Amino acid sequence: MFYDELKKYDWDDTTAAIAAKTSADVEAALRRERLTVDDFMALISPAAVPYIERMAQLSRKYTLERFGKTISMYIPMYVSNACSNACVYCGFNHANPLTRITLSMDQVRAECEAIRRLGPFENLLIVSGEFPALNGVDYLEQVLHVARPYFHNMTIEVMPLKEKDYYRLTKSGLNGVVCFQETYHEANYKNYHPRGMKSIFEWRVNGFDRMGAAGVHKIGMGVLIGLEDWRTDVTMMARHLQYLRRNYWRTRYSVNFPRMCPAEGGYQPKVVMTDKELAQLTFAFRLFDHDVDISYSTRESPSFRANMMRLGVTSMSAGSKTEPGGYVSTPDALEQFEVTDDRTPAEVAAEIRSLGYEPVWKDWDKLYD
Ligand code: SF4
Repeated sequence: MFYDELKKYDWDDTTAAIAAKTSADVEAALRRERLTVDDFMALISPAAVPYIERMAQLSRKYTLERFGKTISMYIPMYVSNACSNACVYCGFNHANPLTRITLSMDQVRAECEAIRRLGPFENLLIVSGEFPALNGVDYLEQVLHVARPYFHNMTIEVMPLKEKDYYRLTKSGLNGVVCFQETYHEANYKNYHPRGMKSIFEWRVNGFDRMGAAGVHKIGMGVLIGLEDWRTDVTMMARHLQYLRRNYWRTRYSVNFPRMCPAEGGYQPKVVMTDKELAQLTFAFRLFDHDVDISYSTRESPSFRANMMRLGVTSMSAGSKTEPGGYVSTPDALEQFEVTDDRTPAEVAAEIRSLGYEPVWKDWDKLYD
């Protein structure tokens, strides 16, 4: 399990090792086609800033080789904001007195139909808070059954589950699981996640092993940029990805680097990442792992997404609503985070085409059950 692997790496030593990287380390990393985690640390370090153009060129080259001029399109469907956890940075935090909505199956069907009217989406990301009595495995299984006729590729972003539950959901049409570790800083993790199942670091970080063991086809990972030193956190994530590739080599992987927004309750990010730093990180990840899908959500601005789609990003959401029931109406429910790119899917797709790329709505089909 990765929790045991992670214990081999000290947080402060990793931070110091990144800070000590030199231009010679960066140049050595740029000469290699296959990078080690140590090379990755050099590329995300301050020493790599003068090399960002070179990194962009290499990132573009590897991305074109692996993915061509394509951007895979997906859309989130929030089904429940009921949550028993108390993540200090999230508007769905149990302590926030907001209207809690868990969609009925009729409402899920109506959302699916509304999404299909928005665009030819086939990649659906089903998102839910963590309240097992309301939005647990039985509920998720029903949602998958209802959504299955509308979408070829269904991914969930929900509470970490047991291996047998992941397996059960794959039999109901589940293809992928996204889970954000939020931070790999175990001691501070407790401060951000003070109650509920999410407060158990080990359960969350080992969830990826359970997904892999259950045969989930695609695993999405990420850390929440704004909690801790982002360079150290993404280094731990690179180690995690490398570990998962070794152990669950049949699985496909994606990464995402959401930059934190102020949440209901007024939480302010501890660390702010600039656009230039996010670009550097994106290039470094592409150089580290040529095959990983790099995803940007509507948290990012239209102009930044347009630039980055030619330099390493391979999937994007569009038209996103981040409150349950948001596609059918504007419910009296809080958004989980504020969307920066609020263009319609058709507008986003038109821009992708204008840049010489192809928006891909369907890139996966399950042939055998
Ligand atoms: S981040 Fe997820 S688990 Fe935490 S409060 Fe928000 S919805 Fe709940």
